[in-house]
Amino acid sequence: MAVLPIRISGDPVLHSPASPVTTIDDELRRLVADMFETMDAAPGVGLAGPQVGVPLRLFVYSWTDDQDVPYRGVAINPELFITPTSIEPADPDTESEGCLSFPGPRFPLVRGAATILRATDLDGSAYQIEASGWLARIFQHEFDHLDGVLYIDRLDKAYAKAVTKVTRKKGWGVEGNAWLPGVDDLDA
Ligand code: ZN
Repeated sequence: MAVLPIRISGDPVLHSPASPVTTIDDELRRLVADMFETMDAAPGVGLAGPQVGVPLRLFVYSWTDDQDVPYRGVAINPELFITPTSIEPADPDTESEGCLSFPGPRFPLVRGAATILRATDLDGSAYQIEASGWLARIFQHEFDHLDGVLYIDRLDKAYAKAVTKVTRKKGWGVEGNAWLPGVDDLDA
């Protein structure tokens, strides 16, 4: 297994829709194992194929809820059903999201309160998870990645301005930026 470099906002693979997975073979199993290792090393609670340069519709997630119930798995060719979002502005204290492809700052974003995820696992079996709260947010965030959408694309104006500033300062927003968990310092 290996920790993979994580692409940073601006790299075209992050901004294009990914393609369905057609075969679950050893190569895909290796990719998923590497994605788990990369997510854990980052550390993060979710990681999508395009973030490691693979334009396929799959993501991994790892989250333990308030009742200590662990959710950890891979979603291959997922479908996501989302409850409508609130029209209230996002709360910076409880709704601030981050992304391993825009490492460092976090910005508030309103998300649907609940989701139903339907996906296939590595055995090719279909499964379904009903989620609310932060897990529902994780699923919406990762699912967006498969459509070439980053959470920073969805922010309110003031936060979008801050994103533009960070992007300029860091030299992101162009092809070819990546960071390697365990090697590169996120806060630099
Ligand atoms: Zn992300």
